[in-house]
Amino acid sequence: MSPIPFAITCPRLVTCDPARATPADPLGVIDDAMIIITDGIVTDAGPRAEMEQRWGSVAMRTEAPGLVTPGLVDAHTHAPWVGSRHLEYQARLEGGDYEAIAKAGGGIVSTMRAVREASVETITSALTKRLHRMAALGVTTVECKSGYGLDEAGENKQLEAIRAAAQAPRTPRVVATFLALHALPPEVGADDAARAAYADDVAHGRLSRVAQHGLARFVDAYVDRSAFSIADARRVLVRAKELGFGLRLHAGQFADIGGAQLAAELGALSADHLEHVSDAGLEAMAKANVRAVLLPIASMTLKQAPPPVEAMRRLGVRMVVASDANPGTAPTESLPLALALAVRNYGLTVAEAILGATREAAASLGLQAVGVIRHGMAADLVAWDLPHEAAIVQPWGTSRVAFVHREGQAIA
Ligand SMILES: [Zn+2]
Repeated sequence: MSPIPFAITCPRLVTCDPARATPADPLGVIDDAMIIITDGIVTDAGPRAEMEQRWGSVAMRTEAPGLVTPGLVDAHTHAPWVGSRHLEYQARLEGGDYEAIAKAGGGIVSTMRAVREASVETITSALTKRLHRMAALGVTTVECKSGYGLDEAGENKQLEAIRAAAQAPRTPRVVATFLALHALPPEVGADDAARAAYADDVAHGRLSRVAQHGLARFVDAYVDRSAFSIADARRVLVRAKELGFGLRLHAGQFADIGGAQLAAELGALSADHLEHVSDAGLEAMAKANVRAVLLPIASMTLKQAPPPVEAMRRLGVRMVVASDANPGTAPTESLPLALALAVRNYGLTVAEAILGATREAAASLGLQAVGVIRHGMAADLVAWDLPHEAAIVQPWGTSRVAFVHREGQAIA
């Protein structure tokens, strides 16, 4: 990396800097702006005239064609998958529903088989390609969950693939999550006793080994009527917290069984999905500063009603938007598509959606120096071939990125 400062100029800069935000301009926008970058860090950002006065003429300068924003942060993905579930998608189009498909051996268990058969190298290669495609869409940080191996060998294989892919050149920053409770592997049975025994095995054995090998920063659990109970999830997550992991939860996707309250009680950084959540659950989340990660691609695939966004606003719950990239309910890698649907289907404002995929997403991953363009932050940014932030959520289906930098280096 160059210790010599270089500059990026642009007609419009969305900083997402709370110090610049006003009620009329929640994104802290600067027209005709300049960013100064040294050693992968933003050393200054502001109006071009002011920057030129302060910095003189910086020799190396790149003109962005249009809008510049912080690099996008995808805070919820199941990206280390292999295989394809197109036949199941077809079944759903013909009327099958998610929970019935899962019971018939499709869904998570079909990806489990593909992951168990694959080598670490195969999973790493699929994930690396996926991360490159995400970078090309403007994504500079990706949370990657395991959760398709289900047994210890399979889960560790996914976590090792996440670690290996994170080292590949020109990839986004990767944050690894051990999705400790996702589904019950068929070999252990299917009743409540099997579920409880599986959760105990995770809590009292597997978690400490994941911690020892430093394979994940977060632990996640899928809490729902057809997934794991509050009691099972609590045992696992309490132990995960003792071991120093951050916590995230899949909560309220199909039914509200109290996942939002559990996330608040344990100090999780996020509760995700929340199509079904009570005001009491949201109040608890707001009080404990648990962010709501909204996943509009999954709810579109499943033809679900949106989560209670108006109640989240009223009760002060901070919102994140993520892709949920997975082979079943969100077969895409596109965070910009999730932003488009968050605005179109959930009624988020453009500013809420963009903050939800930058500053708020970074906060939900515990990343202090990401998601905002200002002095001292990582130089993660996207130059869009678009004139305005409202255009990011409008041209669906194609990448409108001119270039993408992670820590001052071009990754797309
Ligand atoms: Zn998920």
